Amino acid sequence: MADCLFCKIIHGEIPSNKVYEDDKVYAFRDINPQAPVHVLVIPKEHITSVGAAEEADEATLAACLKACAKVAKLENVAETGFRVVSNCGDDACQSVHHLHFHVLGGKKMAENMA
Ligand code: AMP
Repeated sequence: MADCLFCKIIHGEIPSNKVYEDDKVYAFRDINPQAPVHVLVIPKEHITSVGAAEEADEATLAACLKACAKVAKLENVAETGFRVVSNCGDDACQSVHHLHFHVLGGKKMAENMA
């Protein structure tokens, strides 16, 4: 999608710090990390959010979750633990309307989810 920040990152029009990539997924470091490990996993296909998942390609959605697990291993937090978050819509403060999964780790997380 032409005006989408994350589509531009996927196409190399905006620089990013790549952690992992396959044919369906791209993963890169968040520009404003909230934890020692903070990686964004995004589908290469433009999907707006989890809210659009029912209409989205199942293989793409599965690839996103598999990539979260892969990133956790690459970042050495698979054993110690990590959190996967996907903000959806205004109340969740979604700021980029291209589906993304925050993979957070490297510290003890807060018990509160909100
Ligand atoms: P959300 O608020 O859940 O939509 O998350 C969007 C995330 O994208 C935020 O954590 C931002 O820090 C991150 N972000 C925005 N622009 C960039 C960028 N150019 N490179 C890496 N991360 C970015």
